[in-house]
Amino acid sequence: MTNREIRDAYLNFFKSKAHQIVPSAPVVIKNDPTLMFTNAGMNQFKELFLGQTAITYSRVADTQRCLRVSGKHNDLEEVGIDTYHHTLFEMLGNWSFGDYFKKEAIEWAWELLTEVYKLDKNRLYVTIFEGDATESLQRDDEAYDHWKKWIAEDRILLGNKKDNFWEMGETGPCGPCSEIHYDMRSEQERLNQPGQELVNADHPQVIEVWNLVFMQFNRLKSGDLEFLPAKHVDTGMGFERLVRAIQNKTSNYDTDVFQPLINFISEKSGIPYGEAETTDIAMRVISDHIRAVSFAIADGQLPSNNKAGYVIRRILRRAVRYAYTFLGFKNPFFNELVPLLAQQFEGVFDELIQQQSFVQKVILEEEVSFLRTLTTGISRFESYVVDKEAIDGQFAFELFDTYGFPIDLTQLLAREKNLDVDMVAFQEALQSQKERSRSATAVDTGDWVLVHGNEESEFLGYDFLETDCQII
Ligand code: ATP
Ligand code: MG
Ligand code: MG
Ligand code: MG
Repeated sequence: MTNREIRDAYLNFFKSKAHQIVPSAPVVIKNDPTLMFTNAGMNQFKELFLGQTAITYSRVADTQRCLRVSGKHNDLEEVGIDTYHHTLFEMLGNWSFGDYFKKEAIEWAWELLTEVYKLDKNRLYVTIFEGDATESLQRDDEAYDHWKKWIAEDRILLGNKKDNFWEMGETGPCGPCSEIHYDMRSEQERLNQPGQELVNADHPQVIEVWNLVFMQFNRLKSGDLEFLPAKHVDTGMGFERLVRAIQNKTSNYDTDVFQPLINFISEKSGIPYGEAETTDIAMRVISDHIRAVSFAIADGQLPSNNKAGYVIRRILRRAVRYAYTFLGFKNPFFNELVPLLAQQFEGVFDELIQQQSFVQKVILEEEVSFLRTLTTGISRFESYVVDKEAIDGQFAFELFDTYGFPIDLTQLLAREKNLDVDMVAFQEALQSQKERSRSATAVDTGDWVLVHGNEESEFLGYDFLETDCQII
């Protein structure tokens, strides 16, 4: 099945179970102070779960574009290094608002995965909540009993509160969840080690695919739990992971979701995908980040110097740095991926194709200006290294701070000249900058500070140090 067929099959399946198919909400959130970007399918139904909006349909399904690059869910550091966490991904979801509960949610999930998608039953595992004595929470036997109708009991595993109990926030709806995992290791590997040991253990081939949340409690301000008058189901399945399982690939990037982008990058750079780990990571990062950046812009968030705009600018620059450092792209190229992406999402999320040239232009302008800063930094580096025997940590910090050089880039340039970078001094400079910016923000009430004042200066969010100083 192609990725389009897989998406359509999901929506058609739930349509046949009387669900209303609704559009994805934008990935940019403008009216919720607690959240910058949509990070789960349920976000657009938050008010409904809180009882603040009336229920129009009691059964709903959709594919929601999600971004996990800030706040509680921040997967940015993983992206490109592993093969199943993305910045932007589609979350397929089905919901029951006071309608069906565990029995149907479990039965339909199983039917869809094993009969429609024909996933191998001997590779599937499910988890249920094991209970929590400190809160007098029972084990979710109800879910267990429904699962055992479909799957061998040794494949039903117990999970802790972290993985198997979902809460919207400190108060509000919450409840146990059941996750579905798929083991994509080879037959030999599966014989050698039981998959049971690898579920939820960060194994790159044994991955979580679907999460079924059963909202049955309401957490009160006191911390106590009471039963909700109406119970709800909230599910989320990672589309790219599902496609990978169905297409039987060992990486999300080997599916037809990412291959067109990877091929384009590979052709343009003249470097085959699969040649080396560093260039592979770079291609994965770029093919991932173009999706996040393009949809953020199409949904109304331009790159800028603070808040959500700064998060997007950072992701864009991260991609440009990888392209520059590892694939040899010295001229703007990232924006050229936009038409390909827009075409891929035509008829799914038309927001991109409708604004294709605008989105491309914004990215191009960002690239031009960032590449100019990088180039200035390189010539600063070239004039610095003449007669030097090592790269001073303070200078490496200046490159980072003023020209946006992650330390990897400086190390790479240094290696080309057979020089070492004084990393201890670099870390010290970084640390004292962190302290300076912390004390500056203690005075400033805004969430950004002006870090330096020359003509290259720019506003940097106070969290820039964590993610920007290294790209690998
Ligand atoms: P993981 O444990 O793999 O980080 P999660 O438990 O954080 O996933 P959920 O919040 O349960 O994820 O989201 C529902 C589904 O969305 C997951 O089962 C997974 O398939 C998918 N998903 C979550 N995060 C990502 C991501 N960064 N990229 C792609 N898919 C994701
Ligand atoms: Mg996660
Ligand atoms: Mg998980
Ligand atoms: Mg989960």
